[in-house]
Amino acid sequence: MHRNSTHLHAPPHLHTSSTPPSPPLHNSTPPYHSSLSPRPATMTAAGAIIPALADRPIKNTIVLFDVDETLTPSRRPASPEILMLLSRLRQRVAIGYVGGSDMAKQQEQLGSADVNVTSLFDFCFPENGLTAYRLGVPLATQSFIGWIGEENYKRLAKFCLRYISELDLPVMRGTFVEFRNGMINVSPIGRNASNDERHAFSEYDAEHKVREKMVEALRKEFSDLSLTFSIGGAISFDVFPTGWDKTYCLQHLEADPQRPDGVKFETIHFFGDKTMKGGNDFEIYSDPRTIGHSVKNPEDTIAQLKALFPEL
Ligand SMILES: [Mg+2]
Repeated sequence: MHRNSTHLHAPPHLHTSSTPPSPPLHNSTPPYHSSLSPRPATMTAAGAIIPALADRPIKNTIVLFDVDETLTPSRRPASPEILMLLSRLRQRVAIGYVGGSDMAKQQEQLGSADVNVTSLFDFCFPENGLTAYRLGVPLATQSFIGWIGEENYKRLAKFCLRYISELDLPVMRGTFVEFRNGMINVSPIGRNASNDERHAFSEYDAEHKVREKMVEALRKEFSDLSLTFSIGGAISFDVFPTGWDKTYCLQHLEADPQRPDGVKFETIHFFGDKTMKGGNDFEIYSDPRTIGHSVKNPEDTIAQLKALFPEL
């Protein structure tokens, strides 16, 4: 577990084994009394009653999760076991996820035909939090095009297409620049390549450094813009504003105390699998505002959660 300097002392709830646990504050309150509370409880799609954020037994704390390889196998649905554990966890503490892909993908992986993913987490942060939901309600969104502006975007798209047009690759396919809400994805071979073609390009790229050289050229050309270039997967790289990694979502949590039913999150746990430098969890994992937990896979997440919250 990574600990940063501001969290050297674990909050009292982490010491439940050595100190008597504080009495559950609201467990004895029947759910129907919550309608009298100024902080309404939330009913999930499955009908479970969840205490209001400020009424969770573990105060001022949120547990955030990466999605792929942390809550679910990569691009696959979550297991019933981890979903049930999250549901028990949510009775005690605020929970949220932050994933790079969009809401539709996370609905597929974490929700189901009958269950909206926004009913399962207090905070949902698709696209690293550029899109955000709090207790099922959408928050302000941000977009790449809104940030960069049409003129700079045209400069960027034209430069990429011109650069790619002058490459001499063994094969080229289609969709060289894919426009997404929070980034663009650039592929010298094109995203329409088949699996075999992807594989062949990946080997060719390892030898000829096609993507590395193109990123270098883009860095030079667009040094006036604060852009981050991230080579990932086999055939492409992402371009997005610097700072729009997973730490982006933390600003939504920092704004929470300004809401009428808001909570000051003093302890933010983060669980992720790609926590090494260069991985897409590295920035939030090592951020001074979080306590980072590095996991190998969803089974490891379950084991580490049970160790951190023995009452689960
Ligand atoms: Mg991951």
